[in-house]
Amino acid sequence: MFIKKALPALALLALCACGNKPPQKTNVLNRNPPKNTGTKPSPGNPPNQTVFTKPEQVTRNNQQNNTPEVTKRPEREKETYTPPPASNDAAAYTYRSPQYYKRITDSIQYYAKPSYEKTVDEIINQIAKNPSQKKNPAVNAQWYASVNFNIRKPNFVVLHHTAQNSAEQTLFTFSISRTQTSAHYVVGRDGVVYQMLNDYVRAWHAGNSKWGSITDMNSCSLGIEIDNNGEEPFSDAQVSALIKLLDYLKDQHGIPQSNFIAHSDIAPSRKSDPSKYFPWKRLADAGFGYWYDTYNMQTPPADFNALLALRVIGYDISNQASAIKAFKLHYIQNDISGTLSEYDKKVLYNLYRKF
Ligand SMILES: [Zn+2]
Repeated sequence: MFIKKALPALALLALCACGNKPPQKTNVLNRNPPKNTGTKPSPGNPPNQTVFTKPEQVTRNNQQNNTPEVTKRPEREKETYTPPPASNDAAAYTYRSPQYYKRITDSIQYYAKPSYEKTVDEIINQIAKNPSQKKNPAVNAQWYASVNFNIRKPNFVVLHHTAQNSAEQTLFTFSISRTQTSAHYVVGRDGVVYQMLNDYVRAWHAGNSKWGSITDMNSCSLGIEIDNNGEEPFSDAQVSALIKLLDYLKDQHGIPQSNFIAHSDIAPSRKSDPSKYFPWKRLADAGFGYWYDTYNMQTPPADFNALLALRVIGYDISNQASAIKAFKLHYIQNDISGTLSEYDKKVLYNLYRKF
């Protein structure tokens, strides 16, 4: 009884709050009623009064008339997985050459692609379970479904250098299971960009890491491996291709400028990639990550707490020297000692206020 009388009144109140116009009487549960079906007013629902459609009817109407394309599972591109023919290129048999890795990786893909698709199917089955099937022991009421949700999105991009000698070698490394490591993208020295995983799956690139209070960076980030051995500059073609990719990802997933970070930032005691050669300023100028102002930098106040500033940026300061080194690898680059000079403190003071 309460529901029948109170709900129409509440709905009218909600409509009234939206503007000065008198409320248009409408069916609030059915956004897209089928045309010309003319819901017959029942004796209890006189004409022009707000009419409620039972939820089952909404579902049925939506299924009949408004089924969005996204609810249909797309057909997979048909691939025949034919192993590549034997190569005539002598370099393809030269141990650890790019051609050698390409030949092997092309063969491995014969198994890797079906394996990828099998794992995706397992994830889909996991997500497809509704809450009542998940058997959460803490839930002791029946399941009420909400209809308002979509897929979680990555909110960070973590940049790496591969520490390998060719993109082909990295594609190989990520194609075999024993390495237990992967990234969403690999950017070659020549500017060729490979995508290995869908943006919405969890790659294994961050490892044991922490940024702010996040301890599972793999779950919230995209991993990009940049082909570089760690002791050489990054080519212009490569950085330009990377910026183009970042542009797409930032726009696609709404990733904030502050959240384009280094593997060394999130794992300061373990990692030092990308190296001191990485052009972070160029990226910041393009809108990915922050850089300090190169003019009029203020001297920090006497009570400036450098460690807390590092923590505000996101660094794990449980090992202070490692946090400082990671900060300096990213922003000072030509000196990565574990102490902060007066200049380093100025940079830090300038930077932390941007986060
Ligand atoms: Zn890394």
